[in-house]
Amino acid sequence: MDAFVYNANPGRVIFGGGTLSRLPAEVERLGLSRVLVLATPVQESYAQDLARRIGERSAGVFADARMHTPVEVTDRAMAVVAAQRIDGLVAVGGGSTTGLAKAIALRTDLPQIVAPTTYAGSEMTPILGETQGGRKVTQVSPKILPEVVIYDVDLTFTLPVAQSVTSGINAIAHAVEALYAREANPLISMMAQSSIAALSGGLPGIAADPHDRAARSQALYGAWLAGICLGSVGMALHHKLCHTLGGMFDLPHAETHTAVLPHAVAYNRESAPLAMQAVASALGVLDPATALYDLAKSLGATMALREFGMPHSGIAAATEASLANPYWNPRPLERPAIQSLLAAAYEGARPE
Ligand code: NAD
Repeated sequence: MDAFVYNANPGRVIFGGGTLSRLPAEVERLGLSRVLVLATPVQESYAQDLARRIGERSAGVFADARMHTPVEVTDRAMAVVAAQRIDGLVAVGGGSTTGLAKAIALRTDLPQIVAPTTYAGSEMTPILGETQGGRKVTQVSPKILPEVVIYDVDLTFTLPVAQSVTSGINAIAHAVEALYAREANPLISMMAQSSIAALSGGLPGIAADPHDRAARSQALYGAWLAGICLGSVGMALHHKLCHTLGGMFDLPHAETHTAVLPHAVAYNRESAPLAMQAVASALGVLDPATALYDLAKSLGATMALREFGMPHSGIAAATEASLANPYWNPRPLERPAIQSLLAAAYEGARPE
């Protein structure tokens, strides 16, 4: 066996159906008495419900979380934290809401309880991406990692099918890249394989019936494991390309991951044979690149980046930007091949 380093992130996870009923006890366990509940405007009613459950230990709701964690929003939330003498945070939502909790925690070290409602996996990482003046800056700190995560399958039933599919494939991308990460290690690889199997097994059931509890549960379990992968080892070409494309052309997060993943896998296919074997076996297929494309497509995902508004000139521009400041990748970054990869994702072609 190759030598490895394994770094575990601390955190308490409660998983199941109806687990939000444990929230008041968790607030009490952390000794909190003035909690601020966070959500996006779309999910404000979720935050109000959680505030009611917390009762007198709740000091209010801030339901203005936005995509990409803009610093102006965090500043407004910080004013509420100071005015209300907040001593803890509860976030209910996807990566955007978790991002706001993390941004406040980075500034205050307040404890966070996160109840995820998508499969993005941010709740399991000590990573925060904040936007200021159109630039996204990523920071890593133990203060950012949420203390408690309550996965309640019931919260995911309302996630529309299209969003469930892309969010689930976004999670698969974390697990795939963990398998060929420079810091890959046997424990994370085990989780990555289970994650891919659980998500690829759950998503078709969700597409057929969004209220299929077993499928929802399987997908959420896979998302948890994928989040651990993302928070434990470095990501590679796929994540680099998605961050670059998202930042340059304001493309939607999970949808971009879904369109790019099959092509990033095809790019790395020959350079990471053991990882590819692990992905193939988790998916129950021979070729992971075409299988991931077929899975996404069969579940209705949009596979052409041009349909999200990426300009054709973006292929060359994003190639240069990702080569200028690359992440480590098992296959060296080759300009013509990256350009072809992006051209294929732009058109939504099936990888060869
Ligand atoms: P999101 O949080 O932006 O959610 C998209 C929309 O769907 C929001 O309006 C949200 O309120 C709504 N929504 C979420 N769950 C719902 C549900 N169950 N029912 C109905 N509506 C629901 O999307 P996301 O993909 O979860 O998160 C994307 C953001 O998270 C990006 O900014 C990304 O960079 C960040 N992210 C960060 C990390 C990290 O480790 N730092 C990891 C993954 C993602």
